[in-house]
Amino acid sequence: MHTLKIDNLYVEIDGKEILKGLSLEINSGEIHAVMGPNGTGKSTLSKVIMGDKNYKITKGNIYFDNENINDLTTDKRSNLGLFLGMQLPMEISGVTNADLLRTALNIKQGENFSLMPFIRKMDKTVNKLKMDKQMIHRGINQGFSGGERKKNEILQMYMLEPNTVILDEIDSGLDVDSLKIVGDNVMEYYNKSNCSMLVITHYQRLLDYIKPDFVHIMKNGSIVKSGD
Ligand code: ADP
Ligand code: MG
Repeated sequence: MHTLKIDNLYVEIDGKEILKGLSLEINSGEIHAVMGPNGTGKSTLSKVIMGDKNYKITKGNIYFDNENINDLTTDKRSNLGLFLGMQLPMEISGVTNADLLRTALNIKQGENFSLMPFIRKMDKTVNKLKMDKQMIHRGINQGFSGGERKKNEILQMYMLEPNTVILDEIDSGLDVDSLKIVGDNVMEYYNKSNCSMLVITHYQRLLDYIKPDFVHIMKNGSIVKSGD
């Protein structure tokens, strides 16, 4: 059982205040959806939870299992089990997807993740997501379409097995078929892992697959309404 608690958070970037007193608590076995218009700070929220240094917390706290993580680096947050599927995953050439995932798993486990189980798990997940097998040997997101990048984020989620999953507009760039594949796989992971999820979207269509327990409406840097 894990808890992510955001308490009266104020965040600014380049001197501009984006989050203005946002509070949210998410427990294992809960799916929370955050919806709201563009530019309200949804992606800012996701990045500040992961410890993106460009965003400055001026007031308020983020707790994971009652530990204040305001000053924790991103890699340490990842090791605690936090994961972000980004709205706009970047392209990084020179490091393959397979290298990234194996290295991340080795660090997370503190020992070498055996090669064969790693390959089996990766192959299985690539098949489930109906990704091209070659993609795991290409540079991270190199030449990937928008939809392929989103599937790649879900591949990372499956491999890293986080306990707290944040998905930032995972539906954008996906066609109808890919949306179903991604939605079904996200729910399968949720059901088998008992993780918690924070799903950011501004389209109802994602919620046909991912059924939230709580829906929060975000406006101008804070949550203005919450319900089921
Ligand atoms: P949303 O995801 O809800 O569309 P964002 O969190 O991406 O909103 O952006 C919220 C506001 O913060 C916007 O006005 C955006 O221009 C601004 N912002 C976000 N990131 C940066 C940045 N790196 N530099 C300057 N302004 C930014
Ligand atoms: Mg956004």
